[in-house]
Amino acid sequence: MYDLIIIGAGPAGLAAALDADYLRLRTLVLEARKAGGALSQMYPWKKVDSFLGLPGMKGQQVSDRIVEHVRSAGIEIKEGEEVREIHAGNPFRVVTKDATYESAAVILATGVRGVPRKLGVPGEDLPGVIHFLPDPGKFKGRKVLVVGGGDSAADSALGLDAAGANVWLAHRRDDMRAQDESKEELRKSKVKILWNTEVESVFGHGKAEGARVFSNKTGEKTELRCDTVLICIGSESTKDHLERLGIRMERALVKVDEDGMTSVPGIFAAGDIVSRIKRIPQALATGERAAYSAYKYIKKPYWK
Ligand code: NAP
Repeated sequence: MYDLIIIGAGPAGLAAALDADYLRLRTLVLEARKAGGALSQMYPWKKVDSFLGLPGMKGQQVSDRIVEHVRSAGIEIKEGEEVREIHAGNPFRVVTKDATYESAAVILATGVRGVPRKLGVPGEDLPGVIHFLPDPGKFKGRKVLVVGGGDSAADSALGLDAAGANVWLAHRRDDMRAQDESKEELRKSKVKILWNTEVESVFGHGKAEGARVFSNKTGEKTELRCDTVLICIGSESTKDHLERLGIRMERALVKVDEDGMTSVPGIFAAGDIVSRIKRIPQALATGERAAYSAYKYIKKPYWK
């Protein structure tokens, strides 16, 4: 029996864990994959400059540091533990494939980038079509079509360009939602941007050899020869999964009160699932808020 179970070991979950430990809550962190979150799974190579005091770090280095910090505090992190069900009650019962854990409160910090969204075009399942970029270095000299207009697409295109790949970026609009800084870097890079362009299909014999794209302004069709198609068009919403738990959502985010508590008393939420700004400082702040609020919920101090 734990005081607190935190689901998700990315920056938000780990910040919550550290704070909970500081507040002397007996805490367990459950992580479906490896601790470190999207930083290590999706952006290990990317420069992460939003971490105050840690300039010039790569995603993997930041991830290693935060995981090490939490582990060195003696906090228990169980990896490979995908949560299947949460039963509300006193205690909460959190069910994974192999075990059931009990706690007085739960923090959800599962992130939103777990399941990449698919384009749904013919050929998307061919080898050579990928939905995130683990290591741009492997694409040196290759021809890559990146699809999307968000930060993931911009970061990936820039990472590939820096690694010496030949990069096109196709986006369905004439402007991108990626950060201005990235857009500026893209303008200076060798990435060839195809505005107002959508993918009709990916073709190839046994593997991707190119994509048929079309202009949604003029209807003009083009066949692009490339060996990799990287689709970065966001993630599937976690809405269905969370709604099954009885947790209220609002515009694709978990609805929380000012203490970070969801519509289910005793279940708190933090990180990308509660924040429109999906950046690390925001994840840390909401993680700490959730831990502190969980402490008040569990211990009911007289000064609350
Ligand atoms: P995102 O911001 O949701 O962007 C997805 C992009 O894909 C959008 O440009 C969207 O076009 C396009 N798109 C969606 N469905 C499409 C479809 N069916 N066909 C063609 N294009 C489609 O996703 P993301 O880039 O993965 O980022 C997710 C969140 O993480 C964002 O909040 C982002 O800021 C954050 N993030 C931050 C960083 C960073 O701080 N460096 C890095 C990565 C991610 P429209 O623009 O037309 O909707």
